[in-house]
Amino acid sequence: MQLLGIRIDNFNLEEALNKIREFLHDARQHYIVLPYADFLVQAQKDADFKRILNEADLSLSDGVGPVLASYILGGEKLKTRVMGVDLIWALFEKFGAEHSFFLFGGQEGVAQEMAQNIWQKAPEVKISGLLNGFVSDEKTIDEINDKKPEIVLVALGAPKQEKWIYDNLKKMPSVKLAIGVGGAFDFISGRTRRAPNFIQKIGIEWLWRLFIKPNQWRKTWRSVIVFSIMIFKEFFSKRKKIKNNF
Ligand code: UDP
Repeated sequence: MQLLGIRIDNFNLEEALNKIREFLHDARQHYIVLPYADFLVQAQKDADFKRILNEADLSLSDGVGPVLASYILGGEKLKTRVMGVDLIWALFEKFGAEHSFFLFGGQEGVAQEMAQNIWQKAPEVKISGLLNGFVSDEKTIDEINDKKPEIVLVALGAPKQEKWIYDNLKKMPSVKLAIGVGGAFDFISGRTRRAPNFIQKIGIEWLWRLFIKPNQWRKTWRSVIVFSIMIFKEFFSKRKKIKNNF
């Protein structure tokens, strides 16, 4: 389905994992994007970002915003969101022993702490390498080509990570799948505490994030206020079009 000009695939976690299994067994390279409200706002003013999101092999709603918007706007409704952190854990569980991962992004030490946490829970997961998100592209690509992972998780924040994947995927021939995962490393490493379950369930982690990281206000403003205004504008313009057709 399309939301504000961005394609979002109406998949739940299980359907996404089935698709990913296909990706890992065909001959092409693939990338996945995990848009939430802020992506849709940013993409309106960034044509490259919009094109990259729309050309992704799989686009899953990471946030509750696009799901609610699909209900408000009528037409096809998104059945659920697929949170990045949940997708990553499911990937480790399903494919971690068979396919190798590379963790790229976050501050110095975050990917190491994440790997330790993963190995504590699932020692069988193959992590062939890791690198923080503040090294040069050249060094990163050399390191990935040296370690030859099949799946690369890229945590540089949006739209940087999606653009990085789009520009560099072809330069890393071992990689079958790249995923832009935003702040997920900060959560899996334990550096940032995840919101309590009930807050996640009712879809207000954005309020929690603002509370624990007050410098996120710009992103929160875009995700909550600007996104809502855009959706209501779209709602009224759709209604007007329907009225005019009668
Ligand atoms: N980051 C990075 N390199 C950069 C910029 C950001 O590795 O040049 C990391 C940053 O440390 C953080 C993540 O990218 O771990 C961005 O997280 P954020 O929560 O802002 O992303 P979102 O999930 O909102 O896209």
